[in-house]
Amino acid sequence: MSPVEISDPRPATILIVDDRPANLELMATELEAHGYVAVVAQGGEEAVARARFVQPDLILMDVMMPAVDGFETARRLKACEDTRDIPVIFMTALTDTRQKLIGFAAGAVDYVTKPLDSAEVLVRVKTHLTLSALRRRLLTQNEQLQREVSAHEKTQAALVRSNTELEQLAYVASHDMQEPLRMIASYLQLVAQRYPDKLDSDGREFIGFAVDGAKRMQALINDLLVYSRVGTKVRPFAPVECSTVVDTALHHLCVAIDESGARIECGALPCVSGDASQLVQLFQNLMANAIKFRSTVAPVIQVSCQPLGDDWCFSVTDNGIGIEPEYFERIFVLFQRLHGRTQYPGTGIGLALCKKIVERHGGRIWVERAPTQGSVFRFTLHGASAGVGA
Ligand code: ADP
Repeated sequence: MSPVEISDPRPATILIVDDRPANLELMATELEAHGYVAVVAQGGEEAVARARFVQPDLILMDVMMPAVDGFETARRLKACEDTRDIPVIFMTALTDTRQKLIGFAAGAVDYVTKPLDSAEVLVRVKTHLTLSALRRRLLTQNEQLQREVSAHEKTQAALVRSNTELEQLAYVASHDMQEPLRMIASYLQLVAQRYPDKLDSDGREFIGFAVDGAKRMQALINDLLVYSRVGTKVRPFAPVECSTVVDTALHHLCVAIDESGARIECGALPCVSGDASQLVQLFQNLMANAIKFRSTVAPVIQVSCQPLGDDWCFSVTDNGIGIEPEYFERIFVLFQRLHGRTQYPGTGIGLALCKKIVERHGGRIWVERAPTQGSVFRFTLHGASAGVGA
């Protein structure tokens, strides 16, 4: 029969410590007959030296030995880094509980009582070898896990750093690009106004294209500036009444609402914890898209809210052209648009901005198909102490 070892196919080495050679002989024969490698020591000092050298998997040790007894030997083994983790089983005729407790305090994992019953010794040896192997495996896994966690933390910190740097770069770049771009657009317009007779129709058309391009770039830069500000120009969160937020967003959208004949149905909205101006941007972007991506009928936009666990789940539902499910994730990525510029104007930043705002508020945003026609954009926000207001 071979001894069971967790993930270690080599036979386990057992150090037997006893001052009586006859006992050593008996135990060694018994263990070797069961597939173990037996190493012996005739006293405490010899045991400590052997244990350091051989690094046994387990030590079977007599308690009553002249000079250094079993308890003291166990203490010395535990004091040494090389040997402290080797399980020690005491062999003793002692039945006194107090003595046994001294042994456990010295670092024993178990006792076998003399006269020894070899079947019992073998079972205990096997059990403690298995436990020890499991403990080693656990330690290795723990170390591995700690290495992975610290590597993950380092990557995370590097990501946060590079994200912040990128945001600052985007902010500075877009801010500094505004002025030269304004110059290009206004001087081109000036050329067209001042020298109309020096330009033929092609020339005027080309200037028109250039001005149009400059204006689009201005819109892109403005949107990028707003996007990068979500992370850099942060205001502390405060209780925000969402009905006021929606009113402000609707006020900003009044021209588009008038022109499209949109109808807005807004239910009771709660008070949340957040940055009011970013929440206005969030609702405004979603409602502007609901108007922009309308179908042939006048837009109807429903804004509502329901509790979701400890949070609030908001919905902005439209009756517009709808979105194919395969694009549900992609539309929240920066610059991702499903339509050409000539079909619907835009920069592809709006929904990425919404996502960034919602995530800064600790929530998440997603889109679904509306029950009949159109889309439902849903997002979660943490509630402030106030409940749902009218
Ligand atoms: P933009 O509106 O500038 O194109 P967004 O990031 O706001 O950029 O939206 C990304 C894309 O998602 C849009 O180009 C459009 O194709 C799609 N989309 C957004 N909102 C809606 C909506 N309410 N209905 C249908 N499609 C939408």
